[in-house]
Amino acid sequence: MSRVHAPLPADLYVWPGPRTYTGQEMTELHCFSCPPLVDLLIAQLMDAGARAAQPGEFTLRAFLAGKLDLPRAEAVLAIIEAGSRDQLKDALAQLAGGITRPLEGLREDLLNLLSDVEAALDFSDEDIQFVEQRELLLRLSRGLAQVTLVQKQLEQRSVGGAAFRVVLAGRPNAGKSSLFNALIGSSAALISPMPGTTRDYLVRRLELDDTIVELVDTAGRQQALNTIDEQAQDLGRRQTERADLVLLCLESGQPLSESDRELLERSGMKAVIGVATKCDLAAPPAGFPATSAVTGAGLAELRTLLGDQAKIRGQPPLVPSLSRCRHHVDACLEHLRRAHAAVLFADPAEVLALELRGALEQLGTLVGAVYTDDLLDRIFSRFCIGK
Ligand code: GDP
Repeated sequence: MSRVHAPLPADLYVWPGPRTYTGQEMTELHCFSCPPLVDLLIAQLMDAGARAAQPGEFTLRAFLAGKLDLPRAEAVLAIIEAGSRDQLKDALAQLAGGITRPLEGLREDLLNLLSDVEAALDFSDEDIQFVEQRELLLRLSRGLAQVTLVQKQLEQRSVGGAAFRVVLAGRPNAGKSSLFNALIGSSAALISPMPGTTRDYLVRRLELDDTIVELVDTAGRQQALNTIDEQAQDLGRRQTERADLVLLCLESGQPLSESDRELLERSGMKAVIGVATKCDLAAPPAGFPATSAVTGAGLAELRTLLGDQAKIRGQPPLVPSLSRCRHHVDACLEHLRRAHAAVLFADPAEVLALELRGALEQLGTLVGAVYTDDLLDRIFSRFCIGK
């Protein structure tokens, strides 16, 4: 068999360090975005001795080269994992230095203060007063105010309390309100055999084993008959947009409609899961969990599915980073309070130095100036790609 060699154009860019993402020299190879060609190219590069990047390796290298501090590296991960515009916005703000910038000046101030206090310790026999008590108190109060502000900002950013929101969607009469009531265990939603009964939307908390989910019943998607219908549908649409998960009700025995298909196939920011309703009346469509609001069939399984989804998708990607930062900010604040008290009660200067070192260590660990392999492992192993 004869082999055909057709030359294909490719560009090779060489970026000299240190002004690159990792600080090291980098090379980029650009070719046609044809997956078999890219696979072949990667295989040949591997044969020639290259290796694939480890999860998070580029960002780890950037961190080790001092290009990024730790909260910014965590923000890169959160940007990759962002599942909504809000999550992306928060992650970008953190990448822009939203957490670390206010702390940079403080670290500098505390380092200066510590060196003044330590200088005083070195010359303690000579009875020289390096920093007046009043000035010490002033500098410490400034630090306390700054860290308290960062603590408040972190509290506001922690969205961990927001419930995972599941919105029921589907054609009128698909059985959304009945499923809603069956899951909630009451008749909060009005049920009627007339299409378009759910004019408004209802929100109820659904307590699952170890998570709480907000369940929303919206107006059916249909041709609006009048302005009230229109408004109800508009409300429903807005609720669907705010959903973490759309539970699309598909009536057993009925073919999937065009809009059902569209919703199921819609990839992107939102997860959509189909669920067959009224399975006591007809055979459920294949491939979807089957439920009946009348017999209760499949409800326990659906609850488990919702709980699992809430656990997988519910945690915004910045949460681990924010709670790590909060831990260090709280500890730093504690050290600064004790340092302040030490000055007020005229404790020995060694006590003040000890507390200042403690506060600095917390700030250092927060930004990554002080780190352990363990901490880096924990952060960078969460990346699922080589970036
Ligand atoms: P929605 O418009 O999608 O909210 O639908 P509804 O929940 O109001 O239900 C429409 C009709 O289907 C009502 O007459 C319900 O009693 C009936 N229905 C809903 N779920 C079931 C079910 O699981 N089994 C049976 N047999 N009927 C159901």
